[in-house]
This record gives sequence, C-alpha cells and structure tokens, in this order.
Amino acid sequence: MQHIGITGGIGSGKTTICNIFAQLGVPIYNADIRAKFLVQHSLQQEISKEFGADIFKNGQLNKELLAQRAFISKEQTEKLNSIVHPAVEEDYKKWQLEQDSFYTLKEAALLIESGSYQKLDALILVLAPLEIRIERTKKRDKSSREQVLSRINKQLSDEEKLPYATYTINNNGKESIIKQILSIHQQILDSEG
Ligand code: ATP
Repeated sequence: MQHIGITGGIGSGKTTICNIFAQLGVPIYNADIRAKFLVQHSLQQEISKEFGADIFKNGQLNKELLAQRAFISKEQTEKLNSIVHPAVEEDYKKWQLEQDSFYTLKEAALLIESGSYQKLDALILVLAPLEIRIERTKKRDKSSREQVLSRINKQLSDEEKLPYATYTINNNGKESIIKQILSIHQQILDSEG
C-alpha cells in the first residue's frame, strides 16, 4: 500500500480535492482535523500541564488562549508541536493499518514544514494563485485580507514547496481539477509502489 501526502497553502483547495479522491474510493486521513481531535481528547492532560489548566474549561478547549500561549515564541510553538506531532503520527500509523486500498492520502497544511512528508511515498501539491487563495479563504472563513495574509506568511510559498512535489494540481479555476485528479489517480495505480 502506498501512503501519499497532499498539501498546499491555505485556500488552495486541498479539502475540495480530497473530497473528489474520496469519491474514487481513496481513504483520506485529515491530519489537521485529527490533531484538533487529539488535543481535545487524549492530549488534554499533557497540554494543560504545559500551557495551564485554564486552557480547558469544562473539558472544552479555549483555542484563542492556547494560540496566545503557544505562538508567543518559537520555543513555546515547538513545545506544542512536540506534543501534537508525535501523537498525530501514532494516530496516523494506527489508521493506516485499518485501511485496505492500493493507496491512501494524508492531507495536511504543513506536511512539508513539519518534515512528515519524509515518511510518505509521494506528495501531491495543490497550487492556486495567491489572490484566488486569499479571496476563497476570506469568503469561507469570513475573515479579513490581513488575517488571511498573516496565516499565509507562516507557510512556505508555492515556489518553495514545488521541489518536494511528485504531482501537482493547478486549482486556479481555469484548469479542470477532475481531469488532473483522474490522471494522478491513474499514475498512482500504474506505479510500482
Ligand atoms: P485550508 O488550508 O484552509 O484547510 P484548503 O486548501 O483545504 O484550505 P478548501 O477548503 O478546499 O482549501 O478551499 C477553500 C475554499 O475555496 C472553499 O470554500 C472551497 O469551496 C473553495 N474552492 C476550492 N476550490 C475551488 C474551485 N476550483 N472553484 C471555486 N471554489 C473553490
């Protein structure tokens, strides 16, 4: 079984594209959603110990407070990552064992930045022009241009990500994503693995 990653900048269309792969029967692991779930469940104690008991109120995560404390310095961010990343890796490994498919997809916004792409067999990079990504994200999250840009600035640029990509999908609103997905799906099925 091949384990393939899918990444791309905020608003590039990763989730939209994964939904189409899912229609083809490909199992999808959404690392960002699982990370949030684990923080809320098995990691509660560890996170409270590091970042303060008030991070959880009646078992509910105070996202803003955690972000304030975790993103105050590089050291604090690394502390949070050192709790969350290994837990997601372990959860992903367990999930992989439950799948029965020629290949699976692991979706994450920071697959390259976190280094976890190294454990995967190939990487799909979703590309879209910056202005389109800003407009799509503003509309989806009802956020301002400045808020979207500040998130974009924390990620590598498309140019920086390109050398890591085995396959690319241009989600620029002009080229058909379905055609591109079907072509990549076929290439993966035809590959040795
Ligand atoms: P994030 O990194 O924030 O999770 P993402 O890369 O998963 O973002 P999506 O959520 O799939 O991106 O797409 C962002 C928004 O743009 C969504 O509202 C989605 O419906 C819309 N969108 C994605 N692709 C297209 C497209 N080809 N045409 C029109 N709208 C699109």
